[in-house]
Amino acid sequence: AKRAGGSCHVLFEPHMGSDASAQLELQNDLRHALERGEMSLHYQPKIDGQDGQVCGVEALLRWSHPQHGMVSPAVFIALAERFGLIVQLGNWVIEEACRQMAEWKHSGIVIRVAINISAHQLRDNSLVTRIEQALARHGVPASQLLCEITETVAMEDMQATQRTFDGLARIGVFLSIDDFGSGYSSLNYLRQLPARQLKIDRSFVHDLEFSEDARSVVNAVVKLAHALNLGVVAEGVETAGQRDILLEMQCDELQGYFFARPMPADALLAWSLGEQGK
Ligand code: C2E
Ligand code: CA
Ligand code: CA
Ligand code: CA
Repeated sequence: AKRAGGSCHVLFEPHMGSDASAQLELQNDLRHALERGEMSLHYQPKIDGQDGQVCGVEALLRWSHPQHGMVSPAVFIALAERFGLIVQLGNWVIEEACRQMAEWKHSGIVIRVAINISAHQLRDNSLVTRIEQALARHGVPASQLLCEITETVAMEDMQATQRTFDGLARIGVFLSIDDFGSGYSSLNYLRQLPARQLKIDRSFVHDLEFSEDARSVVNAVVKLAHALNLGVVAEGVETAGQRDILLEMQCDELQGYFFARPMPADALLAWSLGEQGK
């Protein structure tokens, strides 16, 4: 399935990853992808619900395969997790995001960047030090970095989550619980984590305009987040209707194709200049 245009044409669909030999080949290629310079980060803007301004970006890993083109993260992140490559990839993401923030800072742009943290990274004892050192090396304040950890991963190993969250919060990094609503968090546990925000899972946002239940869930999550002093972000916003409902519900930040797709750093710069002129 090829999607024309946009910065994210996915030529390699998840089901192709189930073919054993194709998977083995892909896994081998993935081992060399970093050294061959095939990895990059794309950035998707997050929009402030109050003033409509860009209030941050999420960094999303992209793999441009020499033969297959863009491989979907759904395929290669899963492969990397299975074959022990995810920590190495994750470390590259940390380094690259910090380098990019420093480059932007040089051009007078200060923007909060969110990176995604995998289960293996969460259990990696050197993660906090690594992030601290990357920030220091590039002269980026910790408060400018946000780490997104999915609710399911955060619930898997509560001890590791608590330890890593505490460590990251101690150095001043912001934390977000991603895909919230898709897992089952104990509210008491949630209350103990030094997170700053909840990110509502895309599936709920998708159904907002058609489902009373989805509206009730999102409304409840926004209220819960605010009661716990957390910000709330909605991802996967694709329509003006969804945006209006989310704003009505006092959702703090919005992210999705309705505003912008994930894009390379230079395209982001051009896009935001265009937005300012509107
Ligand atoms: P995620 O963290 O939930 O990221 C949001 C995904 O939703 C991204 O998919 C993004 O491109 C997509 N998206 C954004 N707006 C819309 C929208 O309006 N509609 C729809 N249908 N989709 C939208 P992407 O880039 O394919 O990434 C998929 C997943 O791969 C991410 O889900 C995350 O779990 C994982 N991932 C991506 N980059 C990294 C990374 O650097 N490290 C780790 N550990 N995981 C990553
Ligand atoms: Ca995320
Ligand atoms: Ca998400
Ligand atoms: Ca997701």
